[in-house]
Amino acid sequence: MFSKILIANRGEIACRVIETARRMGIKTVAVYSDADRHAMHVTLADEAVYIGEAPAKDSYLQGQKVIDAALKTNAQAIHPGYGFLSENAEFCRLCQTNNLTFIGPPVPAIEAMGSKSAAKAIMEKANVPLVPGYHGEDQSEALIKQHADAMGYPVLLKAAAGGGGKGMRQVWSEEEFSSALAAAKRESMAAFNDDVMLVEKYLTQPRHVEIQVFCDNFDNAVYLFERDCSVQRRHQKVIEEAPAPGLSEEVREQMGQAAIAAAKAIGYRGAGTVEFLYENDGSFYFMEMNTRLQVEHPVTEMITGQDLVEWQFRVASGETLPLQQDDLKINGHAFEARIYAEDPDQDFLPATGTLNFLKTPTENAHVRVDTGVRQGDDVSVYYDPMIAKLIVWDEDRSKALARLRGALKHYQIQGVTTNIDFLYNVASNDAFANADIDTSFIEKHQQSLFNEQSGDIESYLPLAATYVLLSQKRDNQALTSANDPYSPWHNNNAWRANEKNLHKFELNAMSERYDIEVEECREGEQQYYLVKCQGQTYDVQGQLLDDGLLVTVNGHRQQVVIAAQQHSFSIFTDLGAITFAKVVEDFNASDDNAGDAGLQAPMNGTLIATLVEVGDEVSKGQALMIMEAMKMEHTIVAPANGKVSEFYYQSGDMIDGGSALLAFDAE
Ligand code: ADP
Repeated sequence: MFSKILIANRGEIACRVIETARRMGIKTVAVYSDADRHAMHVTLADEAVYIGEAPAKDSYLQGQKVIDAALKTNAQAIHPGYGFLSENAEFCRLCQTNNLTFIGPPVPAIEAMGSKSAAKAIMEKANVPLVPGYHGEDQSEALIKQHADAMGYPVLLKAAAGGGGKGMRQVWSEEEFSSALAAAKRESMAAFNDDVMLVEKYLTQPRHVEIQVFCDNFDNAVYLFERDCSVQRRHQKVIEEAPAPGLSEEVREQMGQAAIAAAKAIGYRGAGTVEFLYENDGSFYFMEMNTRLQVEHPVTEMITGQDLVEWQFRVASGETLPLQQDDLKINGHAFEARIYAEDPDQDFLPATGTLNFLKTPTENAHVRVDTGVRQGDDVSVYYDPMIAKLIVWDEDRSKALARLRGALKHYQIQGVTTNIDFLYNVASNDAFANADIDTSFIEKHQQSLFNEQSGDIESYLPLAATYVLLSQKRDNQALTSANDPYSPWHNNNAWRANEKNLHKFELNAMSERYDIEVEECREGEQQYYLVKCQGQTYDVQGQLLDDGLLVTVNGHRQQVVIAAQQHSFSIFTDLGAITFAKVVEDFNASDDNAGDAGLQAPMNGTLIATLVEVGDEVSKGQALMIMEAMKMEHTIVAPANGKVSEFYYQSGDMIDGGSALLAFDAE
């Protein structure tokens, strides 16, 4: 076994690999770019080597720098993770020439799967079922079209060199064929500098079912069953599960054997995944083989009880496979949800920012969180916006799904837009619960999946008002008693100086302002508040907790998590989360602290305009600047009469939530 390895990756997969290495007593070396100096994978590893600037092409994709780092630290092997250099035959060769073990397949196996056409030709020979189609060398349009016509429409044109959905075109009729072919070729040429095309029958309701295979150097090969990855957006996986619902034992075995045949056909070694399109009548067709560990490998680990990274180490260091086919059994059901920094409502546009608040569900035998970030870390523009993978397990699919919903509700993030609500909507969808899934699941159920999940603002307002009041009281008390230990503010009894018992302030949420009035009341020893907003009055009792609020509103008692920033806070309830910014405060005590209230960015966004000049006299409440976040505008107003002495940003700048926006001199 190796005594030291280098991990040529970052984020959750680097952390994941380090974890197993550590358990096995293998020392680890991380590599990092400028953007990752303080990243989790760097702190977890025994050693770390700097390899270049933030853009991946200048660091994580620099094969020679990675090799140099391994040589310098005397690592014996390199684990490539997924993405980056993991399927790069050139890098694999470079490892060999430098006497480093590449923890993955041999060079020819990577090369064989590099072209979709060549891969199909190999699989055809090995009797692995293919989607009907043409993948020959003769690229004349007439011939390709002849095959399309013969199969019948719709068909799918694919770039032989393709990946990530590029150079792929659906063709629904004979008339569209010529222009679609030209477009697919253009796209493929631009992306891969190659325009060889293949054509396949387009399956309209397929599922994506893939088989995990493992091979060693001694001709042993096993399959660790399947994963269903049908729930996709833009041909990218969102939620994966194992086993695939409704798959018969017979088909499972056929697919497993086909996958082993595929692996053997290319002299495979290590962990690989054979992807199939599956139709509910039990037919399945080879799509491609990924010659690396997959993002979604944890669901396989959960149902087999195996550590696939350990298997990779064992096989790469020359051991035989830890188990044989008959030793492997499926136990229960697992889901993985990919938590992304992205905005589902804006076509899943990747989001960036700082994870100001990050609370993950408690990990146990049923819940696992694979991540590479901590609270306070940035999600930058440089790398994949995946924040974490949430994996759950239980005895059967419906129990596991309930676990997934529960765990998603306890995944709480503030500072970066995420897909958590969207994932929750998928996990709560009836068709999903009935395993009625295929690759167009998200399109089909758009209506229910994209609906706002946060519930009514009305249900949050009394919670927000109570929180503002109680936290202000706490802060005042801390301030006063810090100066004077005998201060009467210390008392928790009914004593009160000339403190007003009516408080008025405004809260800002989802670009709306809400006037709030809170009246403090007392009945005997019992203290309660009457919160008035939007024409409603709520009877509220509350108590601050370390991370939130215990609150009873009109007799409904609940505990909510609250993430506070300097001038905004987010409330997480069973309905979802809402962020509030406190706009104007009118507390009796400590008015002089109100000076810079609201002068921090309420969320990540862009500065659209500054509305006054530095030095202009402005009056309290006057608009000073406009920020835009998620297509909504937020006005920053003067907290008092005075003037702006400096703007810290210019129009067009991207600003992190919580950053100070300007310096203000109150009169
Ligand atoms: P890429 O390598 O560009 O990601 P793939 O060949 O892996 O392309 O296909 C990506 C996705 O496209 C699949 O997961 C599936 O959803 C869809 N797809 C691919 N081939 C077909 C087909 N013949 N019929 C229907 N859908 C397909």
